[in-house]
Amino acid sequence: MSANLNSPNRSFPLERTRNIGICAHIDAGKTTLTERILFYTGMIHKIGEVHDGAATTDWMEQERERGITITSAAVTTNWKQLPEADIFKLYTGQDIRVNIIDTPGHVDFTAEVERSLRVLDGAIFVLCGVAGVQPQSETVYRQAEKYGVPRIAFVNKMDRTGANFARVVEDVRTKLGANAWPILIPIGAEDQLKGQIDVVNQKAVIYSDDDKWGSTYHTRELEGDEVATAKKAYDELVEELCNVDDEMGMMFLEEKPITKEDVKAALRRAVISLKIIPMAGGSAFKNKGVQYLVDAVVDYLPGPLDIPAAKGQSPDDASIVIEARPDDNAKFVSLAFKLWSDKFVGKLVFFRVYSGCVRKGDVVYNPRTRKTERVGRLIQIQANQHKDIDCCYSGDIAAMVGIKNVTTGDTLAEDDYDILLEPPSFPEPVISMA
Ligand code: GDP
Repeated sequence: MSANLNSPNRSFPLERTRNIGICAHIDAGKTTLTERILFYTGMIHKIGEVHDGAATTDWMEQERERGITITSAAVTTNWKQLPEADIFKLYTGQDIRVNIIDTPGHVDFTAEVERSLRVLDGAIFVLCGVAGVQPQSETVYRQAEKYGVPRIAFVNKMDRTGANFARVVEDVRTKLGANAWPILIPIGAEDQLKGQIDVVNQKAVIYSDDDKWGSTYHTRELEGDEVATAKKAYDELVEELCNVDDEMGMMFLEEKPITKEDVKAALRRAVISLKIIPMAGGSAFKNKGVQYLVDAVVDYLPGPLDIPAAKGQSPDDASIVIEARPDDNAKFVSLAFKLWSDKFVGKLVFFRVYSGCVRKGDVVYNPRTRKTERVGRLIQIQANQHKDIDCCYSGDIAAMVGIKNVTTGDTLAEDDYDILLEPPSFPEPVISMA
């Protein structure tokens, strides 16, 4: 993709942006996993305190009271993706912008749930290692499926008695009809849960036992039974990739050597085209597996450039289709997906930019009301703060302050640009009559 899609002023290129949701049935561990991800990214501000879990817990408590961050509509994190890590190397990797969008785990297909799914490029689907696929997880899964959101499944709670990764993978295949393949297999069980087998790289990732917040881990060669487990999983994954991916299929037919880079590239294509659901296992609570899970998100789930352009229509003629592609230099088009009232800041309108960019002070146009309003402030919710920003670029997510006449599902665009991203007939919440 040519670099000129990126404005020279942006700090995170489009290629390194991910908008993901964490979807789960209640109690599977969505909050715990989100906390752990925020902890990693929050550490940037807290280098002196990382070994003191209490400080971080207090910080999370405060955030809970303020009602932002983990319960917020969208949190922006700067993820450090690492080949291998100890705590100090956390500051060396290239940053990836990972926006985590809250996807309410409602059992109904409400407009609110569907809207939050619409703005995602990919999702982590969290399952409980003991309970496996439950009726509610099925509903949440179908919602993501309906919007064609590529997924990575995380089998959480692998430290609990009775957890069984292979059984949950089987459950996902049979109950959800998903083409699920392990990529990070938990090592050990219960209190002996150590880490994961990284199937693609054929190595073990071992997380430290004595670090409550699990910020340290190392990799080592596979040993004992791990060797056979990893080889079997790798061979099966490659065979399936040859089935679902044309390039891999061709390499197989031509008997070309298949490298792990080929496997990674094919897996990425297969995840993006919804042909494979990679499965990872670990424990969010003990933080065994979280770093590699999010690294896998960055590797295999799509970013704004990898998904089809958003389609809108003219408010006057539904047959006129208008596309909004991620390009900072194009006309500004965004979708307001959540309204949020914050006692410190007031009314926040969370939006995703599909094309162009918007600056603080700009006038934005609402094609539904045919009115314009001025953006008073632009805010991003980062690890532990509301951060004022000057500009929000293509593919990114932020909140506007100062826009009053807006409702979720509205398109906010450049002045006079008539485009409705969401057709007026978008489903409204299902209200069940008792
Ligand atoms: P949510 O409803 O999906 O947001 O789930 P929570 O994150 O609130 O987790 C539900 C319960 O499971 C809490 O008591 C967590 O402490 C616990 N929990 C979450 N993840 C794990 C895990 O990996 N292992 C264990 N043993 N407990 C966990």
